[in-house]
Formats: sequence, structure tokens, C-alpha cells
Amino acid sequence: MFDCIIRGGEVIDGSGAPRRRADVGIRDGRIAGIGEVPGDARRRIDADGCIVAPGFVDIHTHFDAQAFWDGTLSPAPLHGVTTVVGGNCGFSIAPLVPEAGDYLMRMLARVEGMPLASLASGVPWDWRSFGEYLSRLDGRLAVNAGFMVGHSALRRVVMGERAVGETASAEDLAAMTALLGTSLHEGGLGFSSSAAPTHNDGDGRPVPSRFADDAELLALCRVVSEHPGTALEFLPGVGAFDDATRERMAALSVAANRPLNWNVLGVSAFAKEMVAAQLAASDHAASKGGRVVALTPSQVMTLRINLASGFIFDALPEWAPVIGLPIEQRKDALADPAVRERLARGARSEQAGALRVLAMWENMTIDETFTEANAGLTGRKLGCVAKERGQEPFDAMLDIALSEDLRTSFQPFIPGDDDLSWSLRAEVWRDPRTVIGASDSGAHLDMIDTFTCTTSLLGPAVRDKGLLSLEEAIHQLCAIPADLYGIRDRGRLRPGAHADVVVFDPESIGPGPVHTRHDLPQGAPRLYAEAEGITHVLVNGVEIVSGGEFTGKRPGTVLRSGRDTDTVTVPAGDRSRRRNRVRTRRSRSRRRRRPSPPAGPPPPPGAPRRSVRAVAARGFRRRRRRGRPARCSRGRSPSSTRRRAPAPTGPRTR
Ligand SMILES: [Zn+2]
Repeated sequence: MFDCIIRGGEVIDGSGAPRRRADVGIRDGRIAGIGEVPGDARRRIDADGCIVAPGFVDIHTHFDAQAFWDGTLSPAPLHGVTTVVGGNCGFSIAPLVPEAGDYLMRMLARVEGMPLASLASGVPWDWRSFGEYLSRLDGRLAVNAGFMVGHSALRRVVMGERAVGETASAEDLAAMTALLGTSLHEGGLGFSSSAAPTHNDGDGRPVPSRFADDAELLALCRVVSEHPGTALEFLPGVGAFDDATRERMAALSVAANRPLNWNVLGVSAFAKEMVAAQLAASDHAASKGGRVVALTPSQVMTLRINLASGFIFDALPEWAPVIGLPIEQRKDALADPAVRERLARGARSEQAGALRVLAMWENMTIDETFTEANAGLTGRKLGCVAKERGQEPFDAMLDIALSEDLRTSFQPFIPGDDDLSWSLRAEVWRDPRTVIGASDSGAHLDMIDTFTCTTSLLGPAVRDKGLLSLEEAIHQLCAIPADLYGIRDRGRLRPGAHADVVVFDPESIGPGPVHTRHDLPQGAPRLYAEAEGITHVLVNGVEIVSGGEFTGKRPGTVLRSGRDTDTVTVPAGDRSRRRNRVRTRRSRSRRRRRPSPPAGPPPPPGAPRRSVRAVAARGFRRRRRRGRPARCSRGRSPSSTRRRAPAPTGPRTR
């Protein structure tokens, strides 16, 4: 007897293999059979004419806060997502101390575009440790979710107000590495950080992680290397990488002994050289024995920005001080011709980098207006409106925004919706130096609609444009991200794997229309879209979406590193681990010739776990006690220590 059988569908198993007609049997949350599945089941799903695939894995979300007020993590599961990773870009909300809650809340509101009122009323903010935060979510989520330990949260908890503006002292660093170690030990999925100039806190100042020097980042990455099943995520900045950034990303990957996933590689034919240069950062890392993987979107982003939140605008040179002003003073400044002149110059300047595209004000579309007087402007280009008014487009934009308390929403022109860009994008998707994703789900709630990234890939890009085969696309959405983070037994439909399954109609799958919904705590609005063509979504064998609607079930697992993830290493890390092993053995054999020091006091309760080396040393001592020959104690060359020669005498017992 099965719990569920999905009958008559075409199975695409996520491995990249061609589809085949097969039934899928599910028992106890796992895939129990694929192919001919005889027998009965408590639940039968008819998948005739549909594709049956593994649930999609989304490694870049910011669902950390939403998880408290919306356990479905909508709309992600409607779009076939069954596993998410939060806590990205340094912005986890654990660990926590009472003093840091208000700061983290205001930072998140500013940097990730979540309404402050919703964060304040929808999240309890009363845990301390990372483990406590995770256990709050156990049993509450529809999908599987893991969370990175964010650098800005760590730094604020340890350094308090000094987290913004100061370099970490030796004591700060020791406390941060210990706290990161404890948080990873308690199940944090890895470490995330940001150096991006677009990331500013509630006071308009750079977020804490931006004050970290390389020594701090490297020390934290070394902690990651000591914890099994952990990952590394980093936001290097906006625009082309300089040498220092390339070098830094390679070094972080090597220090953590993990692939570094960076956010985000936007692709357009307009910036072809830059795409190649960004991808070359992966080659540079590979030459150093590291691995750097770019997160790349599946769609051309439509961006909605406004001068009230000021996000993105504040990353333009000269803009941050103005956007940082309280609304009334900001309005005065934006009305001042001298300030306008300065802002326009900043936006056009070389230092604006890729964001210079914003300064093509005439191409900006007026997305949404909030007064009767401006009602006719929605959907129009600023260039045309300005011409009618006899103004410069930049002045027209500011005047319209000023007339409605800066709330007016604008859509900048983002190049890339042309055939050349789409074919370049397909090339980049297939490139092993990338992973498709960048939904940023749970963040920028009034600004972006990338939460449709999975259905946007499978509908418009795969079916309509034919840029990838469906098998390739499913592989990109499932096995590739799951393997990058070592998420165990997910991302592929195979016997024994967790039964995370999505059933969809390949003829109709796609994103539904984007609209505003007022369903956040305190009635705040957010952009939202249902999916077309996705009928059933199962997580751990339980149906969470049926007929395109949530069932109300909450079978998701809160993923813990090491328990639910495997360790994914990089070549240099493996090499240095082997070197360390040899070095440790040599120093041990030197130590043996000296009298042993007296035993130290026992570690205090709650002390960080022993390092890998300490554990290895313990194993070695045991071996000595049991009278077995010490391995590699006669100064063998490193290469010969790689292969363990069988013991010369007697049968080996383990
Ligand atoms: Zn992010």
C-alpha cells in the first residue's frame, strides 16, 4: 500500500535524462517506486498529459521573516518550489540579542524592501541562538527551508553599534567566529555576506558586513570549513569585478573549502563583455583551487522603484545623503535645482557603473501613480511626458514624485529582452560556472516579480522560445542547485529520495499576471502572481498544492546543515586538508619525543566544538593507545600518504 501514486505522467527525473512514461509511488515521505508501480494507494493523482518532476530548489530567497506570518512561503510553492534557502546576503534574523532586534528590523526593511510595520508585528524577535530560531519554524512550513547565518546579523550581535563604522578588534573577531561556529553547529546552512554598495541600513549607512576587511571574511570562512554540510554565499558588488574582488572571491572559497555562490549575474547582449568578465572570476578561482558560481536570473527583471523607499537610487554616486534624509527634508532637497544638478551628474558619472542605465530617464516608465491629477500618466514613458511639459525628463520625474509624497513608482528601462540577449542567456544557463535562480523571494516586495523565476523559465523561455529542452531546464532548477549546496536526497526523482514532486502541464505552465495584494501583516501590500499550469506540488510526500491552490498542509522540513546536507568541497580545500593532516602527524611525532604537557582544564560549557584537527588528533591518540602502528609517522612524502597502505601484519579490524 502506497501513501500516494502519481499515475500516467511523463517523468523528468531532474538528472538531465530524457523523459519517460512512468508512475511514481510514494511511501513514508520518500519515493518508493518509479516505473510500473503496481498496488493500491490512499491517494491517486492522475498526471495524464502532465510532466512529473522533482520540486524546484530555490537557493536565493529572503523568507526569514515571512516564515512567521505565512508558513506557505507564498507564492513560491505555487510556482513549483519545494525547497528554499534564506538568510542570504548577510541578512539572517538570527542569532539575536534583544538590543539588535530593532536595528535588524529596520535594516531588513530598507535593504530588502519589507514593510517595517509588517516586520514589527509579524515577527516575534525573541529568540537568541540560531538553533532556537530554527526550532521556532519546525512544523510551521509547507516547504523545506534552510537558512544561512548572515554576516550583518553576526556582526551587529557581537559588536553592537560599532558594527557600523568600525573594523573588528581581535576580541570581536574571536566572538564572531565562535558565534558563527555555534550557529552552524546548531544547523545554520552556511555563511552569507555582502560588500554591495546597494546595501544600506535603516539609517542610510552601509550595512555591517560592508565594514569587514578581508581578514575578518577569511576568518569566518575558515569556520565554515570546519562544519559539515555548509555553504557560502556572497554579494561582491554591482557591475564589473576588479582584480581585488576576483582575488577575494577565490580566497573566500578556498578558505571555506566550499563553492562560493555570488549574486547576481544579469545577462544582456548589451553587456556581453561584462558577462564574460564576470564568468572569468570562476576561472580565476578554479586556477587557485576554489570554485565560484554565479547565480543568474531566468528572466528580464521588471524593476519598480520609488523615491520614498529610495532603494537603488541611493546606490548612485551623490544620492545616498539625499535619500537618507527624512521624507520632508528629502522633498525639499529634491526640489532644489542645485541638488538636482548634483544628482543628475552623479547618476551619469563613470562611478555609477552598471547603474548608469537608470540615468536614461527618458526611457523610464511611470508604473503606478497615487493621485487623481497623475492618473493619466500610468504606463507612459517619462521622455514623452517631459516633452509635453517642456521639461527635462529628470525634472519631470522628480516633479511627479514630489506631487505625491515620493510614492510614485517608476520602471527603469532594463535592456535584454531581445533575441541576441536571450540566446546569450541560454548559453550562460548551460555554463557550469552558473546556477539559475535569483528569485530573491520574500524581499523587495513592492519592487520586483522575480518570484516567478521557475515558471518564467519553463513557460516563456523553454516552451515559447525553445532556449533549453525541458529536461535541461528541470535539471537546472533541481539537481544543480541541490548539488551545489549538498542538499541531501532532493533535486532528483529516484527511489529513496524525499518525495518532493511537482506535476505540471507543459503546454500551459507559466507565470500568471503580477498584481498587488494587501495580505502582509498590518495590511501592507506586496506584488504577487499565481502560476499557470502547475496542478500538484508535494513536499515529503504530502500535497501542499492541489489544483493550483494551497491545501493548508505543513510537511516542510527545516533543514539543518550536516543532518540534511552533505559537504561540498573545493580542490584547494581538499589539498590543504591533506597537507594539514600530514603536518599534524609530523608535529605529533615531534611532540612524542617531548614529555607531554599536563592536561588542561576541561572546556567551559557551550565552548565551540573541537576543530577538525583536534578531532583527528583524538582519533590518532586512541589508535596509539590500542597499540596500532601510527599512520605516516616516519616522514613519508605527502603524495604517498594519500593512499593508505594495508597494515603489514595481521588482519585489520575497524
Ligand atoms: Zn539577496
